[in-house]
Amino acid sequence: MSGLNPQQREAIHYLDGPLLVLAGAGSGKTRVITQKIAYLVQDCGFQPRNIAAITFTNKAAKEMQERVGKLLGSTVANELQISTFHSLGVRILREEAKVLGYKPRFSIFDSADCAGILGEAAGTVDKATVRILQSLISNWKNALVSPEAARHLARDEHQKLAAHAYLSYEATLKAYQAVDFDDLIGLPVKLFSEHPEVADKWQNRLRYLLVDEYQDTNACQYQLLKLLTGVRAQFTAVGDDDQAIYGWRGADIDNLRKLPAEFPSLKVIKLEQNYRSTVRILKAANNVIANNEKLFDKKLWSEHGHGEQISVTTYRDNDAEAEGVVMKLQAHRFEHRSQFKDYAILYRSNHQARIFEEYLRDHRIPYLLSGGKSFFDKAEIKDIIAYLRLLANEDDDPAFIRAATTPKRGIGAATLQVLGTYAGERHISLFAAAFEEGFAHRVAPRQLEPLLEFGHFINRMQERAGRESANLVLPDLLKAIDYETFLYDHEEERTAQTRWTNVCEFANWINKKGELDGKTLIELTQSIALINMLDKQNEEEVDAVQLSTLHASKGLEYPHVFLVGVEEGILPHRESTEPSKIEEERRLMYVGITRAQRTLHISYCERRKQAREFIPCEPSRFIDEMGRDDVRFAGGKDAKPVDKVTGNARLDAMKAMLAGNKR
Ligand code: ATP
Ligand code: MG
Repeated sequence: MSGLNPQQREAIHYLDGPLLVLAGAGSGKTRVITQKIAYLVQDCGFQPRNIAAITFTNKAAKEMQERVGKLLGSTVANELQISTFHSLGVRILREEAKVLGYKPRFSIFDSADCAGILGEAAGTVDKATVRILQSLISNWKNALVSPEAARHLARDEHQKLAAHAYLSYEATLKAYQAVDFDDLIGLPVKLFSEHPEVADKWQNRLRYLLVDEYQDTNACQYQLLKLLTGVRAQFTAVGDDDQAIYGWRGADIDNLRKLPAEFPSLKVIKLEQNYRSTVRILKAANNVIANNEKLFDKKLWSEHGHGEQISVTTYRDNDAEAEGVVMKLQAHRFEHRSQFKDYAILYRSNHQARIFEEYLRDHRIPYLLSGGKSFFDKAEIKDIIAYLRLLANEDDDPAFIRAATTPKRGIGAATLQVLGTYAGERHISLFAAAFEEGFAHRVAPRQLEPLLEFGHFINRMQERAGRESANLVLPDLLKAIDYETFLYDHEEERTAQTRWTNVCEFANWINKKGELDGKTLIELTQSIALINMLDKQNEEEVDAVQLSTLHASKGLEYPHVFLVGVEEGILPHRESTEPSKIEEERRLMYVGITRAQRTLHISYCERRKQAREFIPCEPSRFIDEMGRDDVRFAGGKDAKPVDKVTGNARLDAMKAMLAGNKR
């Protein structure tokens, strides 16, 4: 317990009821959770398996597990349940699947699978529409709104269409023995609400709950928390209302407000010392966030000394910015003898990463990209995963269709159509339908044969995958379907090579994971879907610059931070400048600034290349909000405070846009 301040110690020792630790960035909230776990096990006699900690990403879960491992040894740490809400949901569902009418090996569909089903349910193939419907349904699910209730709520055209599709979307998922990501929280809530005896069992198992980043929980997660803690309400939640940045995904800051009302015995502890950043960085962060309406009163101070001034650099355009940042980073690293992993380049949107990647690659600087498009979204990886999913759950129809037709094995679209109709009539999966007499009568023998052969192949592999380790089964599977040849037959040589390398990398990763966790291929498959949600991340610690979205940087810290593209239209995002949304953008800026421990470099461009046009840019209002005292301005036409330079920028931007439209 040494090295903790009195408030932290109080939070760790408090066990008399529900506890909320409410505090600003870098004040040691996450550290309280880690230490409290150790305290519960070491001093209070809690069994590790009776403790559950919930983090925001799998990566954060892993880090916490490692930290606890250092305090208590890895055997104890492995028994703890440290995971995201989603992984905890999966664990509950796998064990209780039967109660809800699922088999334990149900599939978890990713967003693309779900989009396909939803498109069919709504009778549209328009991707933009499907995306809107998907987000509407997701919001309903996260707010625990049933399909029936959604019908009453629906007002505009999209909402009506979504409400209409919602019911059959759910029915289709169930028929496939599949769930979507929202179900991973929603179904346990339903389970516990409808089956108190099951809730009871889990309340007895998870006797103490700790939740990190509580400000970003949604209504559904909040219900799950309540149902899990029951009347005992033994939990510690830590959070910071100023870092709530997932409102767009249904997270509800109201859950923070509700807590004192719904748990009258709730104790609130505030932490005020920041251990992460220099005084200057902290002051800038506090100045920015002071522009938001206050929910809770918080103070934050640091003993870390003033530190260097924050630099705000104006660049001619985004090429100059990327080059400038990379040069500056290199020079800084050389001068301070620091490592690459001490640096992070943070930005508002994923697409901003590409140009930095280019310059980093040109300068041979190693980097890691997080929060970007996942490795698991690549076509070749999805192909292989389709097979694995089918091994785990043969009723997974989208996986069936993908695997049965990739590589081609003589199962044509016409056959699949007949199969689909037949399966629909009989309310069974495609896989089951393929083996039925009734279906055999509807197709020619030459159509049936490859289908049955495929079915038997899956059955054979299934049997092996359930008992053998991944490194035995996977290579045989790849060989049997001759995937490498398929790639070389269908792609240019270089692409085929890259894709095959990816497949091998995936196979390696699965093997390693299998050895590490001692799991069979099927057990591993069941966890894959979860990994691609927020954070497929290289697992080994490597010395590399971190490229990350602001959203994905939550909870993390870096000695030196470059916050790039800090412009109006980017941060704040152009779709979020209205009063109701600007505060969440400001919180993003606050999160960005407070990731920095020692130095913070902010930059923006005077113009930005979009398609073939240059669009003039204005510096973000948040730069001004940091105040001037601790900021050093550089670059641009005259290296002076920026607000006067760009008086006509908006007009110019308009002109450029109009000119672009004419062409
Ligand atoms: P965020 O809001 O960004 O998630 P946080 O409140 O969770 O931040 P932590 O990440 O727990 O803060 O702590 C920030 C840094 O301060 C970490 O490097 C942590 O090890 C360190 N720290 C926390 N408490 C103390 C302490 N009492 N003494 C020294 N260092 C501390
Ligand atoms: Mg934290």
